[in-house]
Amino acid sequence: MQTTTACKCESGLCAVRNRELPESMRLQCAAGNGASVDAMLAHIDAARAKREAERPRAKIRAARQTVKNTKAPCKTCSGKAKTLIDRIASLKNAAVDFFADGMTVATIEQQQERLAICSACPVFKDGWCDSDKGGCGCNLSLKVKARAAYCPQGKWFAHSDNYRPLVKPTRSLIFHIYPKLRAEWNWHWHIEQIRKYQSVFNGKIVIGVAVGRETATMGHVQDLFSGIRVDNWFRSDNDKLAETNTHLSMMEAVKTDDPNAIVFRYHTKGVTKQRGTVEQPWAELLWEANMDIQSVENALASHLTCGAMRSMEPLVKAKPGAFFFAGSAYWFRAKEVFERDWTHTDKTRWWVEYLPSHLFDVKDSACLLYDLTESSVIRSDHFETHIRPEWNAWRLARGIE
Ligand code: SF4
Repeated sequence: MQTTTACKCESGLCAVRNRELPESMRLQCAAGNGASVDAMLAHIDAARAKREAERPRAKIRAARQTVKNTKAPCKTCSGKAKTLIDRIASLKNAAVDFFADGMTVATIEQQQERLAICSACPVFKDGWCDSDKGGCGCNLSLKVKARAAYCPQGKWFAHSDNYRPLVKPTRSLIFHIYPKLRAEWNWHWHIEQIRKYQSVFNGKIVIGVAVGRETATMGHVQDLFSGIRVDNWFRSDNDKLAETNTHLSMMEAVKTDDPNAIVFRYHTKGVTKQRGTVEQPWAELLWEANMDIQSVENALASHLTCGAMRSMEPLVKAKPGAFFFAGSAYWFRAKEVFERDWTHTDKTRWWVEYLPSHLFDVKDSACLLYDLTESSVIRSDHFETHIRPEWNAWRLARGIE
């Protein structure tokens, strides 16, 4: 690392160090404190290298297996019970995030919003995020100050200045139904979820239906939506492309350049599986996590897409850093999607799962619940041992019995 004198760079790209610098560092440089900027950068690089070294899947899995109860594996606390030493370590890890973010402090409004959420949270205890209830054990008056900090239960997220805040968002739904005969227990239930949450969608409700010899008719499905406002219907023949068939038509129906429009997409998850398989609680988790609108809108204030059960293990690694939301239930900011290559599909039934990764970098995404999901294929025992405890902790943090 070179030591520099006063900075003369006019843009964010430092000509001497050949890297982007935050404004706080450029000001330090301009004041002749190049050496301290170099020291900070060295610290940040070391912290990044350490975090990268800690990322291998085996370590993540091992960490999860040590979680014996409902504690979430928060990166700043590793889900352990908190002693004073653990709390100091937790603060140290939070400080690493803080340094990696150029020591950027959240705005007063952002800090106040975070504290308001925390003080109403069942996990809040005497100014601390209570590790006995699935919290991270951090002191909240300190934690909320760092722009890069985030709630271990997905109630508030790291801020970024890259995105315009959402103002009174318009929320739309695009939902694909496969009305398979003898699987009514599944798709009827999904329709009732749409009924239950329809007031969330103050924008459009758009429904796609795949029809074939083995399904109910379009008319029968539409009858079951009695009492639910549907703005657009799309019908497709059911074939091996499944939900990809109605994807572009439904996207076109919610196309907008409104910067405050957000869209949730989902489908009748589990309809091709037997009743009682893991897909049913998985589908319930995805509905519940994605319908916590306060958390969703907090996530989308600083990210372009969010959903539960984010995974870095797609079936096909389309690009380095590819990710997906296991179960393909996710929200996105409409304007940013429709400015990108949203009409592309690869003619497989999995396309909707790949779409977030096709359009966005993983850093543009946020996970609402159970991050680093191991795979898109999950066994029941795995769900009960690993995922349900985190879901329970997520529910506890929202006062849901
Ligand atoms: S779980 Fe989240 S919202 Fe609740 S006290 Fe902890 S940091 Fe705050």
